[in-house]
Amino acid sequence: MYFNVSQLLKESSGSARAYKVSDFASVQDGAPMTPISGMVKMMRTDAGIWVSAQLTTYFDCECSRCVIEMEQPVDMSIEEEYLPEIDVHTGVRLHFPDAMSENFHIDHTHILDMSEAIRQYFGLNMPFKPVCRDGCKGLCLTCGADLNDTCCSCDKIVRDPRWGALLEFAAAQGRN
Ligand SMILES: [Zn+2]
Ligand SMILES: [Zn+2]
Repeated sequence: MYFNVSQLLKESSGSARAYKVSDFASVQDGAPMTPISGMVKMMRTDAGIWVSAQLTTYFDCECSRCVIEMEQPVDMSIEEEYLPEIDVHTGVRLHFPDAMSENFHIDHTHILDMSEAIRQYFGLNMPFKPVCRDGCKGLCLTCGADLNDTCCSCDKIVRDPRWGALLEFAAAQGRN
């Protein structure tokens, strides 16, 4: 997601822009582009441009319980200051203190590229174990049946190791 910010860089500190965006972005290395939309606000700071973005993307994945294909919405709240590599008025290359070495940069053509921030924030906000719906019952570990659609006859209580020994004991008592 690219923005030409040459005009904003020429304005005084505190000047701002807001953009409604609807775009495609790659949220993971090698992953196909996914739709991404929301609001991007930019404000000129003394050193560069502060970006505040509220973005939502939809990511194709599998439910971690029942493995159905699903679309996971992922919200991102991006807050980053981008620093220009060159002075917009003079074209002179700028240097920043080490403390700012981690900041994102605006390249020498005054393009502010949000792609890397989107990848990083996506990684932070993508649920580790996506679930297709509240209370997805998942698959039976024995027969693989989707327990959202069907009941299987596997005895699930015995498969819980906390109960296994007790149930075996009870069964043995029953036989005596
Ligand atoms: Zn599921
Ligand atoms: Zn089963």
